[in-house]
Amino acid sequence: MNPTVTISPRGEQRLRGGHPWIYRADIGEVNAAAGDLVGVRNVKGRLLGSALYSDRSQIAIRMLTSGEKPANEALIASRIDAAIGFRESLGIDGTAYRLVHGEADLLPSLIVDRYGDYLVVQALSQGMDRLVPVVVGALTERLKPRGILARNDPRARTLDGLPQTIEVLSGDVPDTVTARESGIEYEVDLRHGQKTGLFLDQRENREAAARYGRGRVLDCFSYNGGFALKLASVARETIAFDISEDAVARVRSNAQRNGLNVDARVGNVFDELRGLDRLKERFDTIVLDPPAFAKTRAALPAAMRGYKDINLRAMRLLAPGGLLYTASCSFHLTKPLFLEMLQDAASDSGRRVSIRALTGQPLDHPEVLSIPETGYIKGALLEVMD
Ligand code: SAH
Repeated sequence: MNPTVTISPRGEQRLRGGHPWIYRADIGEVNAAAGDLVGVRNVKGRLLGSALYSDRSQIAIRMLTSGEKPANEALIASRIDAAIGFRESLGIDGTAYRLVHGEADLLPSLIVDRYGDYLVVQALSQGMDRLVPVVVGALTERLKPRGILARNDPRARTLDGLPQTIEVLSGDVPDTVTARESGIEYEVDLRHGQKTGLFLDQRENREAAARYGRGRVLDCFSYNGGFALKLASVARETIAFDISEDAVARVRSNAQRNGLNVDARVGNVFDELRGLDRLKERFDTIVLDPPAFAKTRAALPAAMRGYKDINLRAMRLLAPGGLLYTASCSFHLTKPLFLEMLQDAASDSGRRVSIRALTGQPLDHPEVLSIPETGYIKGALLEVMD
């Protein structure tokens, strides 16, 4: 008999709302093993669709299809095809971008990022982990990459009882690869870099910041230099801060590779902003792209204080007419809370601050309204008027 799971009326209602997850509390009878492709039935026995089943995670079910449509290898391959086709239609200026954004591409718990001729895959559930050979087959047939790496080291995998591993799935993957993002070339360490190597989720915001940025630029939380390098070509002077020596070394080597001038320094942004203010330094453009301060809902109040602190200080450091690009990638800090924090910071800064644009994720990281978890980046381009 095909593996099946029965879900409660509350679970069924959730599906109707367009969310593909069913939590453990909403499942009843289970005739399935860890990672099975299952038929999902309601309490009356009606088939609601097919899904990935986990026997460990609180997310017991991740829907793949609805109704009678079967979930099989051909379905996975066709979804991968569709996801790639969508990215190709975007005309992205660069060789590094996201090919598969999990639930948003109807491929729950699967991430695929492209870095030129190389692909990086993350399978974040038992079911998707089992399907990795199918994923690799489909990617190989469609794109013929030189190598595919599994960056299966996110902690989320442990919630599903899966090991944290990094391994080459096909071809060869060198220690560093070259990738280009709108005119800037990066050397990327796919095995050890953060996320899958670069923060691909800020590409459009980097372009927007460079469109408006000018003069004396300060890039805070620079990592490998995403914003600093993009801004350096329009700036008079660019200073970048990151707490990681490794990251700062990469900003320097990437700047050299692109013939750009960036003064990359190791430092704690909280202290550095305070120090710069004390020295009465002023900037025309500031970028704040911090790590997620609120990794859990419980951490929100402290995170709000942290975000407000850096935004308030950045507003004070800007010359009249200066530009602030500020972001939060904390999922738990919602859009309204992000705005509330910025309003608070602006009113305490004593400056008049206007919104030029509210931004989010680039189009290759689609945010689906009925699946809030697909969206996490909030961004704002602000002008400190006087
Ligand atoms: N802006 C980057 C991504 C930033 S990721 C880009 O466009 O690619 C967040 C970075 O903040 C990491 O590189 C991390 O090392 C750094 N970081 C974390 N806490 C910090 C702190 N208190 N001060 C400075 N850097 C910090």
